[in-house]
Amino acid sequence: MESVKDFDPEMYSLVKQEEKRQADKIRLIASENYVSKPVLETTGSVLTNKYSEGYAGKRYYEGQQLIDQIELLAIQRAKNLFGAEHVNVQPYSGSPANIAVYLAFLNPGDTILGMALPHGGHLTHGAQASISGRYFNAQSYALDGTTGRLNYDSIREKALAVKPKLIIAGHSAYPRILDFEKFRLIADEVGAILMVDMAHFAGLVAGGVHPSPVPYADVVTTTTHKSLRGPRGAMILCKEKHAAAIDKAVFPGVQGGPHDNTTAAIAVALKEASTESFKQYTKQVIKNASVLAEALARKGFSLITGGTDNHLMLVDLTNKGLSGKQAAKALDKAGIVLNYNAVPFDKRKPFDPSGIRMGTPAVTSRGFKETEMLQLSEFIDRVIQSPEDEDSLAQIAEEIFAICAHFPAPGLEHLGA
Ligand SMILES: *Cc1c(COP(=O)(O)O)cnc(C)c1O
Repeated sequence: MESVKDFDPEMYSLVKQEEKRQADKIRLIASENYVSKPVLETTGSVLTNKYSEGYAGKRYYEGQQLIDQIELLAIQRAKNLFGAEHVNVQPYSGSPANIAVYLAFLNPGDTILGMALPHGGHLTHGAQASISGRYFNAQSYALDGTTGRLNYDSIREKALAVKPKLIIAGHSAYPRILDFEKFRLIADEVGAILMVDMAHFAGLVAGGVHPSPVPYADVVTTTTHKSLRGPRGAMILCKEKHAAAIDKAVFPGVQGGPHDNTTAAIAVALKEASTESFKQYTKQVIKNASVLAEALARKGFSLITGGTDNHLMLVDLTNKGLSGKQAAKALDKAGIVLNYNAVPFDKRKPFDPSGIRMGTPAVTSRGFKETEMLQLSEFIDRVIQSPEDEDSLAQIAEEIFAICAHFPAPGLEHLGA
């Protein structure tokens, strides 16, 4: 970034400090990851200069000789990797992708049924603060009060009662695998479109360590920047019969020109996600999550559903005598970055809920394995035991700094030990 350094030292300094922060701390935010150098370089390429409204062969601007090839390559790689009939790679991010699906299938006021936000659903699955809750009759299903898991009988009952035109399966904070076949049966019974939002676990699906929703869903949306480890963007995968409706909803329905630099970087990430080493990576993501979950459980932490079978876990800190926010702030001081999170049936407020969420995609990208997960559980335990002991937090931050130096993060290798 030499030219930025010359022209805008203020911004240069901020970006460099953020690089260092990402290198020196343990990132447990379940939706974050480290992209590779090839993905970073493509994101920062001259493709950012191009306008290409429309689709390959049907653009509204000239000069698309290479852009068409780039977009078609991204689409072909996504189709191959996920076995999808049709793919749209233009959504700017996960939220606009979901809004495009609603535009494709729904009219204002139609009923949608998604997972409740405080139970792990996403804002765009019908939360009142979101356009999805404002413009549609948004109904939600909740987790079972005793198991903390989805109860498909009660989802079915809810669907029969509210007759949704579209059902959303998918989450941002549910530590278990979804039963897509059961969702399909429920959708068929009530005549609903089934949309699966696999934003969080798309990388695991690509790596073959998580069931794929693609055979079951009418339409699958995903971000590309979470476990899939691509640039910030999104894709919509659907059956051929919905292809025209989806494409029209993305452009001109919701968006204008696609971000071609992102499209190209998605293609690069999809090539990476097709490799054997990415398969191994996703296996390790799941192994790391289960090792961390078991280690925390042994230390008396209360895990929602008792553990995890994907890349994330939710911990209820009520029995530890501090709130999720207090814990998250103390952990950040100690060099462990995560987010506070509501737990199912949380008695506390969303701005200071009872839990924290942790995920392993980012730490696995930098090479953490079982040994480091056990060390991490010790660090977390020490922080939660004395969250106000500034000396202890600083000491832990130093130990974490030393460990991180041995595991250079992708894209940040130049900052290694
Ligand atoms: C992250 C996420 C999104 C939205 O992605 P943005 O890119 O932040 O708009 C949508 N759905 C789910 C389930 C997510 O986890």
